Amino acid sequence: MDLYTDIQYIKGVGPKRAYSLRRLGINNLRDLLLHFPREFEDQSNMVNFLTGIHNQKNAFIIQVKSKGVLSRPRKGLSILKVPVTDGTLDGSLVWFNQDYLKDRFKVGEKYFVYGKYTANRFERQILNPDIKPYLEGVSTQGLTPIYRLTQGISNKEMTKIIHNSLDNYMNLFNNILPAELMDKHNLMDSIISILKMHKPSNYSEYERARRSLSYEELLVLQLGLLMLKESNSNITEGISFIVNDELYKFIDTLPFKLTDAQSRVVNEILENMTKPLIMNRLVQGDVGSGKTIVGIIAMYNAVLNNYQAAMMAPTEILAQQHYISIKEVLKGRDVRIELLSGSMGKKAKDEVVRKLKEGEIDIIVGTHAIIQDGVTFNNLGLTITDEQHRFGVKQRLNLVDKGINPDVLVMTATPIPRTLALILYGDLDISIIDSLPPGRQKIETYAVGTDYEDRIYEFILKQIKEGRQAYIVCPLIEENEDLDIQSAEELYNRLKVGVFKDINISLLHGKMKQREKDDIMLAFKKNETQILISTTVIEVGVNVPNSNVMLIINAERFGLAQLHQLRGRVGRGEYKSYCILINDSNSKISRERMRILQSSTDGFKISEKDLELRGPGEFFGTRQHGLPELKVANLFKDMDLLKYAQDDAFKLLSQEDFKTNPKYFNLRSRIKQLWNELSQETINI
Ligand code: ADP
Ligand code: MG
Repeated sequence: MDLYTDIQYIKGVGPKRAYSLRRLGINNLRDLLLHFPREFEDQSNMVNFLTGIHNQKNAFIIQVKSKGVLSRPRKGLSILKVPVTDGTLDGSLVWFNQDYLKDRFKVGEKYFVYGKYTANRFERQILNPDIKPYLEGVSTQGLTPIYRLTQGISNKEMTKIIHNSLDNYMNLFNNILPAELMDKHNLMDSIISILKMHKPSNYSEYERARRSLSYEELLVLQLGLLMLKESNSNITEGISFIVNDELYKFIDTLPFKLTDAQSRVVNEILENMTKPLIMNRLVQGDVGSGKTIVGIIAMYNAVLNNYQAAMMAPTEILAQQHYISIKEVLKGRDVRIELLSGSMGKKAKDEVVRKLKEGEIDIIVGTHAIIQDGVTFNNLGLTITDEQHRFGVKQRLNLVDKGINPDVLVMTATPIPRTLALILYGDLDISIIDSLPPGRQKIETYAVGTDYEDRIYEFILKQIKEGRQAYIVCPLIEENEDLDIQSAEELYNRLKVGVFKDINISLLHGKMKQREKDDIMLAFKKNETQILISTTVIEVGVNVPNSNVMLIINAERFGLAQLHQLRGRVGRGEYKSYCILINDSNSKISRERMRILQSSTDGFKISEKDLELRGPGEFFGTRQHGLPELKVANLFKDMDLLKYAQDDAFKLLSQEDFKTNPKYFNLRSRIKQLWNELSQETINI
């Protein structure tokens, strides 16, 4: 038995539950023990039927009055009602389709129950409660962990499996932190922290455990990134490009003047490119700040040096768009540009692959297709990943592997606070495009309820009469591509024959054939269609400056960063632009999101708020930034820890004995393990 033992063989699991657990990303014992409660329920706050809060979960102590009664109001539904009293008033416990509970209760016995309470003039009910026998003299049941669950496993089962494993296998974990660091920051060791995360005696103990593990997590990440940077920059010699006049002539002939921010970043890049060391640079810039042209300039420079350059984009639409604009910008110059995407026919693809290998292509633009096995370059000198946050570290490195120490540029619009960026992209140098091209107007943003729908459509009609175009985006419902499409399709079918019957409108979603998508996108670009109804496939990068309205349906289903990205599809030209968010949720967090978007268009500010509002996993999952998911650390709450971790990491690395002293052994192994999980990249430890 070790930490990587398959989950199926853990006591109390078996094949069926293993299947459920895997859906939660729990594949082995380690995953299980690090599956921490998402919250605790404090059951020490007892209420009775008078003081209970309607429609909320409450904890009661009740006594069973008589045997439970089953009824079957319709096929497939059975209701079990158990009459109870709390000593003052009567009520019932109610379960649906759980007949087996009928004989669980002894009449006259007291129970501790916890569940949603509903009360009206006629009845008081506690729905589907958790129950435990009540023990006289115990006034509190302590903190009950609530775990993230999936179908096929209840909170009770999850708790039991985890607690069982804690009892049996905690000795398999190592303590990661050396004593000096634990003392310095008043932290607990790893093993105790993990235990207390699951079974704290009170909230302050929980918080101390959480901080200990957060620090550990951040320190490991920070050390890992710094070591990665070290091994990239010190060991590897790169290409020394030359910057010749041709490049500056090209920049001068662009249809617009580069902004100061763009020029600065171009210079930073060119300086890197001329150095004999590998360039590893992140270009960060808000949506619409003009990253593409910066990338094109770098690629053209590589081509002028007789090297190939590759640009990878996360969606076919975006790759296609880049392909078109790169061809446009470099028109009349001796540069051979091709597109490679997964949906191309085999013959066309084979031809591109062949040309690439034989050096008959200078710039290749594509999707993941360009990092597939079998794609080889003649002499790849520069790789660019656009919208890096959509890729992982692994994919970035895969592209790099296609050449011999090519220079690397990654671009992202996910704005994260600069201090964070420095820390999080510890293995990259950073350039920031911190201003927008001139003439951009503020995008007016409104959040409204569904009752405004008709008025909004009228508004869109008016804009279209003035020559503009509009996007309407439907949400991703529970990551289910089918439902997702359905909602966009439904809306499309409704509007096409309704309010927009005299207008050319089109539908776009991810499951369409590539040809179809291209045609639709192209028609929209050429203003042959005026309204594009779509799923979030247009989220990143799409650029149609004539469109000035972005309508987002069910905006409450999107995160802040995503809403900001979507909003960035408009306001790209000279026209006054509007973003309208239809939001019918009354939850505090979604109202707060809407408020933030209405009051700010600054991606950096918005991302700070995003960090504050979201959980750490959500903000920081691989999908967001291409970095390992943080299981415990919350970058907003734990900013202080992040700072400590960074300082300590620098200090440790400068210590002669860090790579040899046994007291750092566990820490070093943990770093190694992290990168092994993430990529094939080996770092020198
Ligand atoms: P993003 O940073 O979001 O990738 P893009 O590179 O797509 O932004 O640029 C957005 C739009 O701004 C494009 O239409 C581009 O041609 C235009 N643009 C870029 N730089 C400038 C500039 N210096 N002056 C005017 N327009 C610019
Ligand atoms: Mg872009």
